[in-house]
Amino acid sequence: MPTPWHILGAGSMGMLWSARLARAGLPVTLILRNGARLQAYQAAQGVTLVEGEHSQLIPIRAQTPEADEPVQRLLVTCKAYDAEHAVRQIAGRLSPDAELILLQNGLGSQQIVADLVPRNRCIFASSTEGAFRQSDWRVVFAGQGQTWLGDTSGGEAPQWLEELQRSGIAHQWSPNILSRLWRKLALNCAINPLTVLHDCRNGGLQAHSGEVGTLCTELSRLLEDCGHPEAAIDLTAEVNRVIQATANNFSSMHQDVTQGRRTEISYLLGYACAAAANHQLAAPHLQALQQRLSNHLKQRGLPCN
Ligand code: NAP
Repeated sequence: MPTPWHILGAGSMGMLWSARLARAGLPVTLILRNGARLQAYQAAQGVTLVEGEHSQLIPIRAQTPEADEPVQRLLVTCKAYDAEHAVRQIAGRLSPDAELILLQNGLGSQQIVADLVPRNRCIFASSTEGAFRQSDWRVVFAGQGQTWLGDTSGGEAPQWLEELQRSGIAHQWSPNILSRLWRKLALNCAINPLTVLHDCRNGGLQAHSGEVGTLCTELSRLLEDCGHPEAAIDLTAEVNRVIQATANNFSSMHQDVTQGRRTEISYLLGYACAAAANHQLAAPHLQALQQRLSNHLKQRGLPCN
């Protein structure tokens, strides 16, 4: 009998992962916020996964955090700012040798969760897949990509990666997951805040290449000072490549702000600025960008953390 997957947070990524695992015949349980969300989910009878023209309703078991069955393998798919609280709610249900897989963007939240459950193995993940919620319990798989998984404490790749393979979830074990997360954070810091401030699609930043270049220089220095020189290699070139390749897209931060949703700024630009301060590295452009973005969010009544 394969180990059950518990998935904490039935948003875009939680539904995308749960649907593919369940479709492959693996035992999956969604952990929803509360009884009201569980009732709404049960009325929908499952998760609908939309891939291109095709949509499929996949019935998946669900429960609230208060359920009392033990959790052996937990995939955390909340936003970075919700991860700590959500894991705390179910920490008492974790088996002593339970493993957690943390799918949050940016940096900071993973360590907070790992510190909360020191007995348990925490695997950090970084994904380039794209998904969005068309409505509650209905997710669109919008962009093929890949998920890197790794353990900052070292150790072998887990056996269950084979289950991802079987479920068609493109993935790779990464011996240096922190560098991958830093690289993604740097790309995000160079692109996303400016798309919000200039209110443009990613391609609109081609008109601001000087500003982008200055940020990339500071970010490269920061990556080197933080012990991730490999994450700094050709950063400016990759940022420009991403801007070109995704010219028509609105960044996730731009979408969050437009839709009046809280951003993950503290775990992206905020984390970069705090790391620069810790390393006594002058990063005036990153600091100024954070200030401008915070003011912008405040003006729109959105949290700036
Ligand atoms: P999302 O759609 O907002 O989903 C987050 C889910 O967490 C929501 O369903 C929310 O519940 C749930 N949640 C929050 N607190 C909870 C709690 N205490 N108990 C149970 N559930 C709780 O977010 P997402 O887009 O999937 O993103 C998740 C993470 O993946 C983020 O860090 C994001 O940056 C990263 N990521 C996303 C994508 C993407 O394409 N979406 C790609 C790469 C990485 P409610 O539904 O009740 O609000």
